[in-house]
Amino acid sequence: MPDQQEKFDFDFIIIGSGFGGSVCAHRLTEKGYKVAVMEMGRRWNPEDLPRTSWSVHRWFWRPRLGLRGFFNMRFFRHVTIYHGCAVGGGSITYGATLLQPPREVWTSGTWSPLCDWNTSMSQHYATAERMLGITENQILGPADYLLRSTAEAVGCSQTFYRTKVGIFQPSDNTAGQTHADPFFSQQGPPRWACIACGGCIMGCRYGAKNTLDLNYLYLAEKHGASVFPERKVVDVKPLDGSPAGGNGYEVYTVRSTSWFARNPQQFTCRAVVFSASALGTMELLFRLREKHSLPAISPQLGKHVRTNSESLIGARMPGSTEDYSQGISIGSGIYIDAHTHIEAVRYPRGSDTMGLLTTVLTDGEPGSGRIALWARNILTSLLRHPIRSWRMARPSGWARESVILLCMQALDGEIQMDWRRPWFWPFRKFLVSSGQKVPTYIPQANHFARKFAEVAGGTGMSTLPEILFDVPGTAHCIGGCVIADSATHGVVDSQQRVFGYQNMYICDGSVIAANLGVNPSLTITALAERAMSFVPEKAREANDHASPAPTA
Ligand SMILES: Cc1cc2nc3c(=O)[nH]c(=O)nc-3n(C[C@H](O)[C@H](O)[C@H](O)COP(=O)(O)OP(=O)(O)OC[C@H]3O[C@@H](n4cnc5c(N)ncnc54)[C@H](O)[C@@H]3O)c2cc1C
Ligand code: SF4
Repeated sequence: MPDQQEKFDFDFIIIGSGFGGSVCAHRLTEKGYKVAVMEMGRRWNPEDLPRTSWSVHRWFWRPRLGLRGFFNMRFFRHVTIYHGCAVGGGSITYGATLLQPPREVWTSGTWSPLCDWNTSMSQHYATAERMLGITENQILGPADYLLRSTAEAVGCSQTFYRTKVGIFQPSDNTAGQTHADPFFSQQGPPRWACIACGGCIMGCRYGAKNTLDLNYLYLAEKHGASVFPERKVVDVKPLDGSPAGGNGYEVYTVRSTSWFARNPQQFTCRAVVFSASALGTMELLFRLREKHSLPAISPQLGKHVRTNSESLIGARMPGSTEDYSQGISIGSGIYIDAHTHIEAVRYPRGSDTMGLLTTVLTDGEPGSGRIALWARNILTSLLRHPIRSWRMARPSGWARESVILLCMQALDGEIQMDWRRPWFWPFRKFLVSSGQKVPTYIPQANHFARKFAEVAGGTGMSTLPEILFDVPGTAHCIGGCVIADSATHGVVDSQQRVFGYQNMYICDGSVIAANLGVNPSLTITALAERAMSFVPEKAREANDHASPAPTA
């Protein structure tokens, strides 16, 4: 075996620095490998994060439009996908809710026959929870109390729970004060105690949210991993005529934030980990299969994409003296039935742009009937309560007066992503969705939102894209490169090695093979911990790690 350090720039190149990527960076560095992380998003310091969502250029990621934030929305026919884009991936914008899914998810989907997942995963969930600094939320805000009162009113108060969160909330009432690293025996950075400003989703400006750049990625960099921010990977090719990657890979990158001087750079490595999120990894692999860089990627790519069957509803309490933005972004949840899970979500005071997307709560099956009903609801409200209707519609004060109810269903429903020329733009191929639409109307959720508004003396809310275009929004896109027994059923094996290639892994939300019914980041982290546990230490690598990756 040749000396890898001489032959390659890096042992491992990781594409993307989100949950999967950061775990891999830390664990591989710990095992003695020379690791690089290519991340197309920017690196953020707490003080650079936007104060409110009106600071659009620092919130949204659309570099071609000059927007260099950390949050992106991608529009498809079947779903609008919200995702993060930064050093630390989705952790910069996420609500920090870290929940384990019910045990049954491991016994459905293509991964179920491969091992006793419940037994295998328990140790990795425990590690992930420790690393992400999970605690039961100690800070309930007005939105959480309202969720609990409404749960009492509809008879499901026994299901009310405080979320488990990756937020530093010490018990000694030191909100806003700094503490020497409380998580990694002083090996990590200092933290500030959470001040309950409700801003987690806009990025924590107070160093209290346990983002990946403060744990996994921080430790990886400290132990030698090189992180390349604003570097987008555009190609990955096997080296030296070994089509299955046995001789390593060449990774091609460009600067993601430049229009013209894109400063292309190539790096060689022995092994590659795709961790670009479900959407990012699917998109990159489709492109690389199409241009014959990685032609052997399974035909199952893009299949079994799940969106957690989500619907966003809520309530606004115009003129309320309560400040509903207080608390943490996602402080509590309930189950209104066995399959339907609702979390109370808030935005920080002043972040009122979401108010442009909300409207009066409207029932009904999607289509023209629902749009007509919505128009009638608006008209009735305007005629009966003109002042209240105006106060409901104006964005100003929206975050202080509103609570979003994030409804997730664990019922299985999936769509597919393909690489095609859309009818409206036949000049090049894009990622396009197909299959059965995920429902945008969950009757029991609307019923709950109506009750919620009634208890608070407010008005129920739906989101406009769900009504007008029958397109649900989701922050939890998973699947598309699922774990399975062979390339006939999935894209990676149970150790997340890519079928058809050697020394190639996928560690992100794309490998998840069932609808979790809860927010997915903890499961992505635990799965990456498990996948990395099979990689031998570098000293033993020559003997152990050279085994061929599984093929179809
Ligand atoms: C507003 C919001 C709130 C959320 N709240 C929660 C929550 O409370 N709990 C929860 O569990 N989940 C939450 N999520 C979802 C969570 O963020 C994702 O599930 C999680 O981040 C996915 O992890 P990942 O490892 O798959 O990839 P990500 O964390 O998405 O990281 C992928 C990274 O890869 C980078 N990348 C993509 N393509 C390339 C490329 N070609 N080259 C280089 N880099 C690339 C991206 O920029 C990104 O930084 C939330 C999401 C949003 C948008
Ligand atoms: S509530 Fe505020 S201080 Fe606490 S973690 Fe969220 S953003 Fe940070």
